[in-house]
Amino acid sequence: MYSRFEPVPRLLMGPGPSSVPNRVLEALSRPTLGHLDPQFIQLMDEVKALLQNAFKTTNELTIPISAPGSAGMETCFMNLLERGDEVLIAVNGVFGARMVEVAERIGAVVHRVDSPWGTTVDVAEVKSVLEAHPATSVVAFVHAETSTGVRSDAQTLCQLAREHGCLSLVDAVTSLGGIELRVDEWGIDAIYSGSQKCLSCVPGLSPVSFSDRAVERIRQRKTRPNSRFLDLTLVMDYWGGSKKRAYHHTAPVNAIYALHESLGMLAEEGLEQAWTRHQRGHERLAAGLADLSLDFIVKEEWRLPQLNAVHAPGGLDEAAIRQELLERHALEIGAGLGQFAGHAWRIGLMGHSCRDESIDTCLNALEDVISRHSG
Ligand SMILES: *Cc1c(COP(=O)(O)O)cnc(C)c1O
Repeated sequence: MYSRFEPVPRLLMGPGPSSVPNRVLEALSRPTLGHLDPQFIQLMDEVKALLQNAFKTTNELTIPISAPGSAGMETCFMNLLERGDEVLIAVNGVFGARMVEVAERIGAVVHRVDSPWGTTVDVAEVKSVLEAHPATSVVAFVHAETSTGVRSDAQTLCQLAREHGCLSLVDAVTSLGGIELRVDEWGIDAIYSGSQKCLSCVPGLSPVSFSDRAVERIRQRKTRPNSRFLDLTLVMDYWGGSKKRAYHHTAPVNAIYALHESLGMLAEEGLEQAWTRHQRGHERLAAGLADLSLDFIVKEEWRLPQLNAVHAPGGLDEAAIRQELLERHALEIGAGLGQFAGHAWRIGLMGHSCRDESIDTCLNALEDVISRHSG
């Protein structure tokens, strides 16, 4: 039977979604327009421009895919790879491993470069595998591995890809808006992100951007991608430049309003200022965690400010603590994922969740609940 759903608000300080500011929720609730309404088409153009700003690119093909980050991942792989193509995928956590699964489903030949969990992608190893497999056409990796809290050197990896005649394919789901990311300057060819991490928008959209070289590769495909919905040549006819827009799918109109608002907030703050805010927030959190004797898993130089992976306190029931944080303090932090399950916490400082007051609330709540459990 129906009863009205009224969620108790939570402070979201896990691996995403992050807390959504009221401005964005209010934008979401404005009147729905037809998806080919001239007002909406104008909004689409503004969203493209704001996304170009956030990605630091002039790429014409810069749009939100109408589905979550996972669909952005599939869009990049589906469109850049054909059966039998060779792709190098660097794996240092859950999301790199997921890339392998996606590429294998396409029938691509995967050269997998593993780095231990909690460490950055090994650039020297990527180089030697590229030298061993000169037919490789795409190099893919995760810029900000949310499962471990590790940053990889996107600039160097993309440069390496280019030196070996490969396109670079970058997962920026957690990095966009949180840490330095320069699509044009770093020569990134294909990139995808998500609305619900450092952009603090509602979940369900995946901003993507493709360089001219990537678009050229897509236009020269011998076969069509095995997905009509994610086929960029068709998506481009809907989101594309000056031509008449053709119906491809119904855009999630209100979610686009929300994305427009969150990108507008990022532009108002300034992209560099947002990067700095995340770094400062991380330092504030790290100081408090040290006082609580909670140790980081990742070496300082690789740490993501927006995703802080720490060892859960030994001898205590970490799941019970997280449960109590939720019930007593309306605070969500992330559990360990994959190899880190059961003994790590992931504290997210993404977007709107990365403010001094949230950080202090989080630290106070941790102190309270840990002391209850230690008693
Ligand atoms: C969250 C995340 C994804 C998946 O995004 P969804 O919106 O959950 O589909 C992919 N890669 C990374 C690095 C992520 O953090």
